[in-house]
Amino acid sequence: MVTTAGKCHCGGLQWEITTEETPVHILCHCSACKLIGGGEYTLNLIVPKDNCKITSETQPNVYTYKGDSGNDVQCFYCPKCTSHPWHYQTVNADNYVVRTALLEGADKFNVAAEVYMKEKFEFQPKIAEAAFETVPPS
Ligand SMILES: [Zn+2]
Ligand SMILES: [Zn+2]
Repeated sequence: MVTTAGKCHCGGLQWEITTEETPVHILCHCSACKLIGGGEYTLNLIVPKDNCKITSETQPNVYTYKGDSGNDVQCFYCPKCTSHPWHYQTVNADNYVVRTALLEGADKFNVAAEVYMKEKFEFQPKIAEAAFETVPPS
């Protein structure tokens, strides 16, 4: 197992995730990610909740919105600088969607897939071999 640390922009909120292998990035081009993150896509990995821990005294705040499914999505963020370590989709109850760009060594992680290609900005080139219009069929 691999434990990887993450921290927010101000450094007040810190966390760790544990994965079987080195984390990978899944790029999400959905419109909610653009609005929340302010970039052309976000970088994510689905990790069991039990493998995600806040390690700082500072605890995250929670912003709740409706996802594509109509169910609640909770966005956890630093109360001071607003960086968010992960999201929680109530339809995906046992996991967090971890923001991999905020993890140590993120510049060396592989890109595994891209999701929500239907909302990708036109100027943004396709990066991953595996690309899905919304999310992969399950
Ligand atoms: Zn912060
Ligand atoms: Zn998204």
